[in-house]
Amino acid sequence: MLSTDVLVIGGGATGAGVAWDAALRGFDVVLVDRHDLGSGTSGRFHGLVHSGGRYAVKDPDAAEECAHENGIIRTVAAEAVEDTGGLFVTTPFDDPSYADRFAAGCKATGVPCEEIEVADARRLEPRLNSGISRAFRVPDASVDVWKMVWGLARGIQDRGGRVLPYHEAIAIHRDGDRVTGARLRNTGTDEELDVEARITVSASGAWAGRIAELAGIEGVHVMPGRGIMIAMNHRLVNTVVNRCQMPTDGDIIVPVRTVSVIGTTDVHTDDPDDHTVLQEEVDAMLEDGERLVPGFKQARALRVWTGVRPLFEDRKESSESTRDVTRAHALLDHDKRDGVSGFLTITGGKLTTYRLMAEETVDAVCKQLGEQRACTTATERINGSENGDYLHLSDRFSRREQGLLDDQLVCECELIARRRFEDAVRRRASINLDDIRRILRLGMGPCQGGFCIYRATGIVHGLERIDAAQASDSLLAFLRERWKGVWPILYGDQLRQVRLDDWIFQGILDVGHLPS
Ligand SMILES: Cc1cc2nc3c(=O)[nH]c(=O)nc-3n(C[C@H](O)[C@H](O)[C@H](O)COP(=O)(O)OP(=O)(O)OC[C@H]3O[C@@H](n4cnc5c(N)ncnc54)[C@H](O)[C@@H]3O)c2cc1C
Repeated sequence: MLSTDVLVIGGGATGAGVAWDAALRGFDVVLVDRHDLGSGTSGRFHGLVHSGGRYAVKDPDAAEECAHENGIIRTVAAEAVEDTGGLFVTTPFDDPSYADRFAAGCKATGVPCEEIEVADARRLEPRLNSGISRAFRVPDASVDVWKMVWGLARGIQDRGGRVLPYHEAIAIHRDGDRVTGARLRNTGTDEELDVEARITVSASGAWAGRIAELAGIEGVHVMPGRGIMIAMNHRLVNTVVNRCQMPTDGDIIVPVRTVSVIGTTDVHTDDPDDHTVLQEEVDAMLEDGERLVPGFKQARALRVWTGVRPLFEDRKESSESTRDVTRAHALLDHDKRDGVSGFLTITGGKLTTYRLMAEETVDAVCKQLGEQRACTTATERINGSENGDYLHLSDRFSRREQGLLDDQLVCECELIARRRFEDAVRRRASINLDDIRRILRLGMGPCQGGFCIYRATGIVHGLERIDAAQASDSLLAFLRERWKGVWPILYGDQLRQVRLDDWIFQGILDVGHLPS
């Protein structure tokens, strides 16, 4: 049995943000996730720190929030942010009258925006459609969410908090009208563990309705909105490029580390674990890419993935905001809403607004506990971001240069050296190669693990972290997971790559008959 002040269920950006905020205010915290941190929607999103431009016309409140939080994330989480800047461009496919409404919307909502000459935009991004008629600069940025979430987690641990990935909440404990904690199941060992908490926060995104049901609370309905994204092999653009039109499918390309990502769609689904990818969605997304960057389809598509938006709809009849499906965030104080104290739900919103969501949630925690403590997350830098330097694509080259002659390379695509890989394995105390992938980007380049994953498996085995059977399972699990994102875009160079990987793994390694 663990005892704590605040138990946070859900280790995405929101949950990690809540736990960090509570830890900074001096509360003892326990943060749990059923999988790894950042493996829900936060690890399956588009990678964009919104400037607010996207919402400037359609949703002015969201635009204002994003503009404000964008400035804060750039400071407190600098290490995870690449300052790419953003462009909104009017392509021949867009309504030309939108541009003036866009500029007015940015002005009204405080989104920094400057119209620039089309020639300057094309100088900045030479691959852009030559038919562009207007261009605006905004402070969009891209973010490595795993760096950010683990930066928050390390800060929580430094302040005595406990972070428990692979711990699923399977029951919420109640003492009459009060939630008193939860029962967790370690998904690796199947062991169960009770956590007693003064207050329990569900930050479980698209799964929030299920957690509320565990607490015996009805009507927390989160509609999962599934969206696909496709990573292309190169930085086809170095700036976040948005079409200047009302938000729609496939209208943004985000440069994220070594790739550029086009997205997204929004399809209603009933299951937050639904990761269906339809071929027609992929085809349409590639066509959308052509509209911004002609020749887009000829580039090498690396991978497709989906995420689910938590869209909150309050179905409780007595609620003040009934039947309101919203992209804004929703903080539910279940004491006020359902007469159940010691329990809060925070869901919806955007990754860009995670800190604001956390601040409002911990304010409500303080209120329920009757202890006023000030929030400092707008100024306190998270671990790794102390010196305020942004992430640069060239960082990995300079790091590699330092150990060029005395360290082996494990992953050529992402320039991961052996020492760094071994450090990550020790630090994470994880034998799951997918966890290491999220930290180091192992296997996320063009070969999708084809050349590095057997080396990585051998090294983890050599460190005596796993036995032969676990090594085989780990390798196969990684390959299966990678395959899910590759098959829908099998054409051109990526098809050739997959054939080569197939020869390596089936022909040379005979992965179907590994030692068990
Ligand atoms: C396709 C797509 C693109 C997007 N692009 C952007 C973008 O570019 N910029 C932006 O700002 N926002 C974007 N968003 C929105 C943003 O990604 C989400 O709003 C945000 O990541 C939600 O974070 P979260 O922490 O609330 O939820 P999640 O990251 O989903 O975290 C919830 C966690 O709860 C855990 N959990 C569930 N059940 C249990 C249980 N029983 N026990 C323990 N843990 C449990 C899950 O494993 C999960 O990790 C996008 C969303 C989608 C779908």
